[in-house]
Amino acid sequence: MQTTENSPTVLVVEDDPNIVHMVSIIMNKSGIKTVGARDGEHALEVLNHLTPNLIISDIMMPNMDGYAFRRELLERDEARFIPFFFLSAKGKAYDIVHGMELDADAYIPKPFDPDVLLAKVKSVLRRYSHLNELLQYDTLTKVYNRRMLENSLSAEIKRVKRYKQSSSILLLDLDHFKNINDTYGHDFGDVVLQKISAGLRDNMRDTDYVGRVGGEEFVIVMPNTEKKTGVLAANRLREKIEKLVFDKAGLHVTISGGVATVPDDAEDIEGLMKKADRALYKAKDKGRNCIVAAE
Ligand code: GH3
Ligand code: MG
Ligand code: MG
Ligand code: MG
Repeated sequence: MQTTENSPTVLVVEDDPNIVHMVSIIMNKSGIKTVGARDGEHALEVLNHLTPNLIISDIMMPNMDGYAFRRELLERDEARFIPFFFLSAKGKAYDIVHGMELDADAYIPKPFDPDVLLAKVKSVLRRYSHLNELLQYDTLTKVYNRRMLENSLSAEIKRVKRYKQSSSILLLDLDHFKNINDTYGHDFGDVVLQKISAGLRDNMRDTDYVGRVGGEEFVIVMPNTEKKTGVLAANRLREKIEKLVFDKAGLHVTISGGVATVPDDAEDIEGLMKKADRALYKAKDKGRNCIVAAE
């Protein structure tokens, strides 16, 4: 089976290249991609720019062994919920107990049966793909929920600082949305939220992502985007939304937004959101249906 961009990815943390190779062959045959890391330290580096669907880790490795690596993952909000298997030559009962105490989803002793490994991997991937949907997406609008948006944004901020780049966010809020609920009912308000979310997704750039952070508030993360470009992109989006027609007497809905940029305006997520919120407040104050840049 061919792997594609959307295939699930397994991170294989293992100092023996033969095992990495063998696991890759088994997984690739079933359309599962693999990425190798030679020890715990290397794997942590890989995790800075990749979120795999599953991690399979050896225990005995140089630099950082599997236990230390697992303990480090459990400390990280963005990594602790990634499904995790130990695959180790340490196969005594107390080894397995110790591994499971570190919240592994499975402990597979070496030598292992490829079919059994593959069956366990597939079962976990199936269960988690449904769970992830519930954990990451807003049920009404199908965009990222607040938790997922914040996790992705804090990873983005770390990345930006490491590579000394700029990224911007647009915090936007629907204008006079209460009126829409009051006039047409709450259910119609929900339909408006769904249509606006789809409009945001359809019209933002491919590398941007959107999350619902409040009732009628959304954040769009614009990686590698300086403030000026961010404001231009935000205004394009605002104009697209303004043109959407809702099926109640040609109703249009507008949005107001604040744009803030790392590192210019803030270096952490709280600061960035605060700056964007202040700019949004000014946009409302200026009469709505406009974008204001943080200063
Ligand atoms: P402004 O232009 O100042 O933002 O005015 P507004 O009316 O949009 O602001 P306000 O904060 O007063 O009202 C927000 C409204 O959004 C009130 C609330 O009932 C509505 N709302 C929040 N979440 C949902 C939701 O999930 N569905 C629906 N239909 N309405 C929601
Ligand atoms: Mg080893
Ligand atoms: Mg609001
Ligand atoms: Mg509003």
